[in-house]
Amino acid sequence: MLPCRSLSAHFVVKYQAMLSPEIILKSTFGYDSFRPLQREIIDNVLARRDSLAIMPTGGGKSLCYQIPALLFDGLTVVVSPLIALMKDQVEQMRAAGVPALFLNSTLSPEAYSDNMDCVRRGQTKLLYVAPETLLTPRILDLLAQVKLDCLTIDEAHCISEWGHDFRPEYRQLAEVRCRYPEAVCLALTATATQRVRADISRSLGFSGPNEFVASFNRENLFIEVRPKRDGAAQLARFLKRFKEQSGIIYCFSRRQVNQLSAYLEECGCSVRPYHAGLDDGTRSRNQEAFIRDDVQIMVATIAFGMGINKSNVRFVVHYDLPKSIEGYYQEIGRSGRDGLPAHCLLLYSYGDAAKLKYFINQKEGDERMAAMQQLDAIVRYAENERKCRRKPLLAYFGEEFPVKHCGNCDNCNAEPPVLEDITIPAQKFLSCVFRTSEGFGAVHVADVLLGSKNEKVLRFRHDTLSTYGIGKELTHKQWLHLARQLVQMGFLNQDNEYRTLSLTDTARAALKSRAKFFGQLQELEKRAKRKENRNELEYDQVLFDLLRAKRKEVADAKGVPPYVIFSDPTLVEMAAYYPQSRQSLLEIAGVGQVKLEKFGDMFIEVIAPYCQEHNLLEKIRATAPAKSARKSASRPTTRTTLLGEAYNQGTSLNSLMEQHQVKAGTIIDHLTKYALAGNRLRDGEDLQLLTSVSPEDQQAALAAFEELGAEYLKPVFEKLDGRVSYDELKLLRLHHLAR
Ligand code: ADP
Ligand code: ZN
Repeated sequence: MLPCRSLSAHFVVKYQAMLSPEIILKSTFGYDSFRPLQREIIDNVLARRDSLAIMPTGGGKSLCYQIPALLFDGLTVVVSPLIALMKDQVEQMRAAGVPALFLNSTLSPEAYSDNMDCVRRGQTKLLYVAPETLLTPRILDLLAQVKLDCLTIDEAHCISEWGHDFRPEYRQLAEVRCRYPEAVCLALTATATQRVRADISRSLGFSGPNEFVASFNRENLFIEVRPKRDGAAQLARFLKRFKEQSGIIYCFSRRQVNQLSAYLEECGCSVRPYHAGLDDGTRSRNQEAFIRDDVQIMVATIAFGMGINKSNVRFVVHYDLPKSIEGYYQEIGRSGRDGLPAHCLLLYSYGDAAKLKYFINQKEGDERMAAMQQLDAIVRYAENERKCRRKPLLAYFGEEFPVKHCGNCDNCNAEPPVLEDITIPAQKFLSCVFRTSEGFGAVHVADVLLGSKNEKVLRFRHDTLSTYGIGKELTHKQWLHLARQLVQMGFLNQDNEYRTLSLTDTARAALKSRAKFFGQLQELEKRAKRKENRNELEYDQVLFDLLRAKRKEVADAKGVPPYVIFSDPTLVEMAAYYPQSRQSLLEIAGVGQVKLEKFGDMFIEVIAPYCQEHNLLEKIRATAPAKSARKSASRPTTRTTLLGEAYNQGTSLNSLMEQHQVKAGTIIDHLTKYALAGNRLRDGEDLQLLTSVSPEDQQAALAAFEELGAEYLKPVFEKLDGRVSYDELKLLRLHHLAR
């Protein structure tokens, strides 16, 4: 990593101190609009009100302290327990031109004291520290010598004993907070439970309603559960759709991880295993290879994932049933952090649930009870074939999902299941539950219906019941499937601990009134017809692959993960809009000023020849609509607006060129964007004077724009049989837009 003295970004920061959060969002991070709650949290921190922000993984927590850090004069300290992530975060900041440093036990003594010097001299805006580092007298003393403006506590749930990751050092952060009363405090977490939230606020002495809770719905994740049949082969077929894309496959045991990764390797996949049984060296090599895109697939136990910042994970598969909904949601949450679509597949078999139950039964008391309840919830979730998947998941986090169909899960997209009349088998099953004194599980009830002579049936003398052997028309598996539906529909209760079945009042009433039952006798493979997501941008896959190769080359040369250079959505936009000048590149989401300086030309050198070879032109990027309530950020960039307004006030094209020291083409591009964004544009005579096209061709061009629209030039160019050059067409288009 670079020593901090060589950071050239100091001036950028001074310059930014005069700017607003919006401008920093665009100029440093290259984004057009804030995600939900980001702006509110930033405003609150800037107003020096202590704040607690709760957002799901990938929600964009980091910007909530990074932008204020650039607006404060003094230092922002970020406390994080994830030492492995600090280097990564600092690298990402530096790639965007923000002076950032970290202090933790992985630094050599020299680097450590160099970094301390930089902090002392005010040469950094952001300092990442581990909690135990922060608590040392050396660091507390250092911070007393500088102006500390903001203390950010990342992974703030670690402060709570009720959280899943309590860390005693975190408790002492409350004291640290008191030492620097001038600094505003921002606590961040992705843990949503009320108890943990309250605990964080109380421990840190927060007051008032400064709590921001974002929705935990991750719209871009396609959520699917499929019955597991020939698991490994099913998986191999699934993976064919994700050639050269990153993904994680979670397994229950280490042995399973080893077997499955060996199998997938044989199938020709780029894959590595990860579990706690591997030695440290192998584990971190495998993880590194995954992060750096050298390897596409990680087959892992749940030991993998915490502290992985990789944003372009395109799928997560649960090869075995997860132990709880909370764990499951956290694991699938590791995909699609960049906001692009990702696929989450759970392969479910009741056998896997039985296997987990076997392990849970070896526990005792409350622990066993709690584990059983969690298992029950995930089984109910997996077996639910009708309701939107998002509803129960979000309900688990105390969030109501008000939409009936999310449109992005298997149940919302599947063909509606064809329901058959299952009255007779349902009546048989329910009466058999009743005859066996409501004290047995589904397996035993099915045995009785099928007339089994197994030891348990004979021991309880269930071969003498009237329902013995009356259900030979269905298979054992079909009876179990039916039982699960009866539980789902509320006709049967299933005991948490022993999984014995009993009739509900609804069932008694239904039997009495001879009501009809509807359901399915065959387990159906769901045919998920995935709808095209209208928000997905169409892009040039070949160019995308070239850009990705370029990114990998640049990243390897610098020794950083590829996403530090540019994220996938940034490359997708490049492959959709074909930007070939620095100016146009700056319009792409994720390209800020410093990244433009550092990497812009290298990427233009890939895009320009490709476009030349394939006769492709730049497309104008319509600014993405803001998802947050604020509209301001969805307007054209400041520069475009500035130029558009100046032009409307009467400044001529020539004066604009002189004032801004740019070519006519650049001004024309900006004015076009300004007009395409819906702004009125003055129809100046200079537009006409600049063109050397004959009056007839001018008329023909204007008529063509009228007919074909102004967004693309190519159709107009072709309509005029190539008589008018693209440069001229740009000018005429502007004339058309201004009329
Ligand atoms: P979290 O810490 O909440 O898991 P991050 O801060 O790592 O999330 O952000 C996740 C991803 O989203 C990152 O790649 C980040 O650059 C991107 N991101 C954050 N805010 C925005 C935004 N306003 N517009 C576009 N992308 C964003
Ligand atoms: Zn849904």
